[in-house]
Amino acid sequence: MLVVIAIIAILAALLLPALAEAKAHARQVQCTSNLRQVSLALRMWVEASEISAFPWRVRVSDGGTQPDSGLKSANAAHEFLTISNELDTPKLLLCPADRKKRAASNFGSSIDGGLANPAFRDNAVSYFISLDAGTRIYNGSAVVAFAEAQNQAVLGDDDFRVDVQPGSGGTCSAGVNVPATVLTQPLTGNLAFTNRIHKSGGNIAFGDGSVRFTRSSDLGRVMIETDDSGNGRVHLLMP
Ligand SMILES: [Zn+2]
Repeated sequence: MLVVIAIIAILAALLLPALAEAKAHARQVQCTSNLRQVSLALRMWVEASEISAFPWRVRVSDGGTQPDSGLKSANAAHEFLTISNELDTPKLLLCPADRKKRAASNFGSSIDGGLANPAFRDNAVSYFISLDAGTRIYNGSAVVAFAEAQNQAVLGDDDFRVDVQPGSGGTCSAGVNVPATVLTQPLTGNLAFTNRIHKSGGNIAFGDGSVRFTRSSDLGRVMIETDDSGNGRVHLLMP
């Protein structure tokens, strides 16, 4: 009897880590699928827009979210509310491995799961938004360059530390006051995903519609390619 119990205990000890790893892998795959769908919804929005730019680079008077004048505060959920017609459900805005957040179930403003409700908003979003995506800076002014956005990060897992915390300084040409900022010139050595969401990396959706699991060691290169100006700053909305 004791031998049987010992064998079962040994088998369990061998199988449990494999099971945990399989579950983590399943969550990572689900996250990739979420990002594909959100990315597709954004592209549908862009194609319907006359400006052919992401909503954060289209003026409010043209149906986007960029203020016609002045600045707005950084708010990722606000951008995702704009694609409510293209996105099936706001549940896709949540990475299944992100235990800190809880999903919104609709795009309304009710306390009962509405993404627009203050209880949800960024609390229901796992993914950062790159305000630089789809733009280039020429002679100091931002120009929509959607076709050039292929290699730029558009959105992805947000568990990395930015160099300038939101609210700490600077404005973005998308009309956002003091967004989170990653410095790419010089690139800081400590830019890396934590292990909080996925192990040793994170998922990122790019301008060409692809979603790639990005290792921490590759995050710096991705941010350099996302920088719209070469001025060394990538502005992000971190939920
Ligand atoms: Zn994820």
